[in-house]
Amino acid sequence: MRGVIMHAPRDVRVEDRDDPTIEQPTDAVIRVSAACICGSDLWPYRGDDPVRRPQPMGHEYVGVVEAIGDDVSEVSVGDFVVGSFFASDNTCEICRDGYQSHCVNRVPMGALGTQAERLRVPLADGTLVVVPGSPTESQIRSLLAASDVLGTGWFAAVAAHAGPGKTVAVVGDGAVGLLGVVAARQLGAERIIAMSRHADRQQLARRFGATDIVEERGADGVARIKELTDGLGAHSVIEAVGTQESMMQAIRSTRPGGHVGYVGVSHDVELPGGELFGSGVHLHGGPAPVRQYLPELIELIMAGTIDPGAVFDLVLPLEDAAEGYRAMDERRATKVLLTP
Ligand SMILES: [Zn+2]
Repeated sequence: MRGVIMHAPRDVRVEDRDDPTIEQPTDAVIRVSAACICGSDLWPYRGDDPVRRPQPMGHEYVGVVEAIGDDVSEVSVGDFVVGSFFASDNTCEICRDGYQSHCVNRVPMGALGTQAERLRVPLADGTLVVVPGSPTESQIRSLLAASDVLGTGWFAAVAAHAGPGKTVAVVGDGAVGLLGVVAARQLGAERIIAMSRHADRQQLARRFGATDIVEERGADGVARIKELTDGLGAHSVIEAVGTQESMMQAIRSTRPGGHVGYVGVSHDVELPGGELFGSGVHLHGGPAPVRQYLPELIELIMAGTIDPGAVFDLVLPLEDAAEGYRAMDERRATKVLLTP
């Protein structure tokens, strides 16, 4: 099969890889219907994370089950399925508490590389969720978004306690931030402030339910959020970048007693203890337990209630993955979908 391999920063190639097979009785093998490039794939691409070379790439996927191991009973050959970026058993105590991304038996899908024609999915019964019927092309896009960026934005909104009567601010206008807007809206937030400087992303944020846009950053950004909230700060802040600047932006934009849901993969973030102590702000985040939300997200997508697939603004054949990485790196694209 063909699959994406990163050899070094800015050196992404599509190559022949061995076809995956059932290795454990709990495995499934799927034919990938669509995969995509993640903002977090840009960290090794830009040389900010080490490349375990040669490294298979990708951790987002939807597809059709082609084979199952002897112990798999919840999915069948031919099912259209969605999984997330950690395989999880969905039965351990941590999973049952809703934290499947920290499952005691978790397997990172990024190590297997979903930007490929086929994929082995470990712990298939716990990991994969079956989509009823045959999704349309547009539903497939949205289901692929559910695999990571929507599920992650959703967790951020839940961690930030977005809900009725709340003002939610979103730091970061990448796919996760934009879908955090979708989540905040679905959860009933009264006001949603998207922080973005890009006209096209502002427009999408508004379409997804943002009521206000703040272009300022840093101290000016915090001041603007306070202005919009009677000097208090937002009740709920979604942090979807992962830098020192974005994390402090999030904490300082939150009112005392408010909540920050942080899901941007943290890079060299150091929180000042004194300021944190004085802030009275709740912090919760990390790798999102997307698996917990998948059944609900699939239902919302198949009912046409939400259209998270709108974040994909470039669709390329898998063979052109290198161009997809360039486009995201150069911010010519927000989110790139790869089709086999
Ligand atoms: Zn588990």
